[in-house]
Amino acid sequence: MLKGAFLGGIHPPEMKHLSAGSAIERAPVPERLVVPLVQHLGAPCQPMVEAGQRVRRGEVIGSVDALVSAPVHSPVDGEVVSVGECLTAAGTRAACVTIAPYEDQDFEQWVRVEGRDVPSIVRAAGIVGLGGAAFPTAVKLVPPKDLEVSTVILNGCECEPYLTCDHRLMLESPDLVVRGASILRTTLGAARVVVGVEANKPDAAEALRKASDGTDVEVLVLPTKYPQGAEKQLIWAVLRKEVPHGKLPAAAGALVHNVGTAAAIAEAIDLQKPLMERIVTVTGRVARPGNYRVLLGTLVSDLIRAAGGFAGEVARVVAGGPMTGPALGSLDVPVTKGMSGVVVLGPDDAAPPVDGDQPCIRCGRCSEACPMFLQPFAIGTYANAHLWDRAGEFHALDCIECGACAYVCPTRRPLVQLIRLAKGALLAKGVKP
Ligand code: SF4
Ligand code: SF4
Repeated sequence: MLKGAFLGGIHPPEMKHLSAGSAIERAPVPERLVVPLVQHLGAPCQPMVEAGQRVRRGEVIGSVDALVSAPVHSPVDGEVVSVGECLTAAGTRAACVTIAPYEDQDFEQWVRVEGRDVPSIVRAAGIVGLGGAAFPTAVKLVPPKDLEVSTVILNGCECEPYLTCDHRLMLESPDLVVRGASILRTTLGAARVVVGVEANKPDAAEALRKASDGTDVEVLVLPTKYPQGAEKQLIWAVLRKEVPHGKLPAAAGALVHNVGTAAAIAEAIDLQKPLMERIVTVTGRVARPGNYRVLLGTLVSDLIRAAGGFAGEVARVVAGGPMTGPALGSLDVPVTKGMSGVVVLGPDDAAPPVDGDQPCIRCGRCSEACPMFLQPFAIGTYANAHLWDRAGEFHALDCIECGACAYVCPTRRPLVQLIRLAKGALLAKGVKP
């Protein structure tokens, strides 16, 4: 069944053909892994190891007691070279553990995680939202008592251009996704669990349908549109329910998890396996675009080498999807739990940045494209003039930073950057989202 999509949104060139046909292959073990101790939203972990120490694959190397956090595990058997700081894809610095892997690795062995129930095992396994948000999953498995989750939605949309890692996961391991979906439904006591897949991945939808035959899992094909994978847009597309302003998705009776997260949950529960690696799409101007199973802490530079190196002129390398991912200032940053892609763009693929002085011609296209029904031109204009309160009156804090407005703007106003400035200023003033 094909349901109608959400309102607003855009149809950028998909560019998925570059890597959609490439089966997942394991990226080589690099000489060094640089594993950040904060790979999630929430409190950073404290190092649990020291230089010179031997670590086993799956051993906890970073942990903290805070509720909103996720432990970090060694992805390999090896020796800790140092505990220090590293640059991250976001351009910040983070505490990290650098590990020299041993030559022989057995990827079928790991230190097993334990827990008394599903949320505690998921927490011990260090699982976070693998779609990019990196919010600790265990927290979402225990919603506030006054909110009832009637539907769990798995996000298999992968609506960002270029990315195909979720597509390949659904195609190659549909049983794992379906198993994770069932675990999520029973854990949350929901009546339904629905996997939403965009119509541009019919083979993945078919594989999931076959795998879900006779189970409690439903598969729903949705029209292709960006940003369908955003939480509120997906809830609307699947359930026709709006999340009340300022409330959690559970207020609409729904909870959204990424398909990769569901697969990681299935492995944690059935195999006691912690999160030590993830699938990353490496694509664009590289010699061998594809989908790679990557040990967390592998440097982007090593990953690009694994994909055969650059092919042609490179203008920008983006971590994640090109609509929302940050352009990298250095390639020597590690792959983390939330990094779904490395997209290498050439001069014709990436528009050069413009300054904030481009005039708005009041065409209204940004408002039509905005899936949150905002007026991006107004927020941008007020942000440019540092009139933060006015930007707040136009609901700047509701912006999900999808970039649809900037994509359609004929004068290429840097709308997302301006809105981000306004959001930062409003939050600093204590305005609640
Ligand atoms: S204003 Fe925000 S939510 Fe709306 S299109 Fe622009 S980036 Fe997306
Ligand atoms: S799309 Fe650009 S030019 Fe048109 S109204 Fe929005 S900001 Fe102004």
